[in-house]
Amino acid sequence: MILVFVETDATGATEVSRETVTFARTLAERSDGPLHAVIVGDRPAGVLDQLGGYGVSEIHHATGDGVAAYGGAAWAAAVQAAVSATDADVVLAPGTPRGMEVAAHLATRVDVPMAANVVGVSDGTGADGAPLRVARQVVGGSVLEEMVLPERPAVLTVAGHAVVDEPGAPATAALREFSPEIAEADLVARVVSIEAAEADLSSAALTSARVVVGAGRGAGSADGFDAAAELAELLGGALGVSRVVTSLGWRPHHEQIGQTGSRISPDVYIPCGISGAIQHWAGCASSKTIVAINTDENAPMVTKANYAVIGDMHEVVPAVNAEIKRRRG
Ligand SMILES: Cc1cc2nc3c(=O)[nH]c(=O)nc-3n(C[C@H](O)[C@H](O)[C@H](O)COP(=O)(O)OP(=O)(O)OC[C@H]3O[C@@H](n4cnc5c(N)ncnc54)[C@H](O)[C@@H]3O)c2cc1C
Repeated sequence: MILVFVETDATGATEVSRETVTFARTLAERSDGPLHAVIVGDRPAGVLDQLGGYGVSEIHHATGDGVAAYGGAAWAAAVQAAVSATDADVVLAPGTPRGMEVAAHLATRVDVPMAANVVGVSDGTGADGAPLRVARQVVGGSVLEEMVLPERPAVLTVAGHAVVDEPGAPATAALREFSPEIAEADLVARVVSIEAAEADLSSAALTSARVVVGAGRGAGSADGFDAAAELAELLGGALGVSRVVTSLGWRPHHEQIGQTGSRISPDVYIPCGISGAIQHWAGCASSKTIVAINTDENAPMVTKANYAVIGDMHEVVPAVNAEIKRRRG
């Protein structure tokens, strides 16, 4: 039996959760077993139909004061209760900050290893008693590692945007509500209030963007990012930067991509004036297509990119923006 911890927002299952359910469905199909989901806290309207359409036959919904607000340990206790009730062989969570935290707490509680950022299954289904062998991203996605999970339940998180979000036939999942017992110790760290930041300091837009325009030292100064930001906006994407840029104080840290910044997996990454140092590459290696803009044809980012424009970003990017606007009228 395969169980997925599903994160939700007001509209239903979040994007990385839907990807994780899609991934889990292939495991369930291979083992010819059921696919269940567990939701903790708020349950958005329509999620039974939404997840039913992804092949989920039953949703376990944890309710009660102890889990109403997010807390890593408390939510893991709720997921653990669902694991016990279903005798799940494999528990998957989305590779998001909360998904990672809940899965890590769960693995500790049931005393098994956890595989983070899984992108594929090399062998086994988890439900056949044999060890589950998975491939996972490490070093910010620049290296694929194979990991064997011999214990039950096998606990893993699925890397964001590494799997295609693909619903199946329309269906409705059955609902089982339960109120897990939450120990006082599990409530020590939990969300007690949420306040909007004066400015948007989150990197959420960057990590979930389908298009990212990057800008590095080649921008020249704090005033050199307007064209790259405009290109990001024209493409409905987000602006990301290199560490040199944040270290120089040209842009805020939440925009940094790399080993000590955000890891991105967009459909298209357009790094402008970024050399492609290994620490930057660690954060962008899983981009599906890279189009580099750089004056140096030998820059590592250019040699690794799928496409490259050799030229000054202060000339190339405004020209691209002007052409996009011209074509859009
Ligand atoms: C422990 C550690 C962690 C790190 N973590 C990170 C991290 O998370 N993210 C990160 O990015 N870095 C990180 N770094 C820093 C990393 O090693 C590089 O120093 C950094 O990525 C370089 O930034 P850059 O490419 O913008 O600058 P540079 O390496 O200086 O490259 C600038 C590039 O711009 C090109 N260029 C110059 N002018 C123009 C122009 N007008 N038009 C077009 N191209 C132009 C140049 O040809 C060059 O390729 C880390 C380093 C360490 C030691």
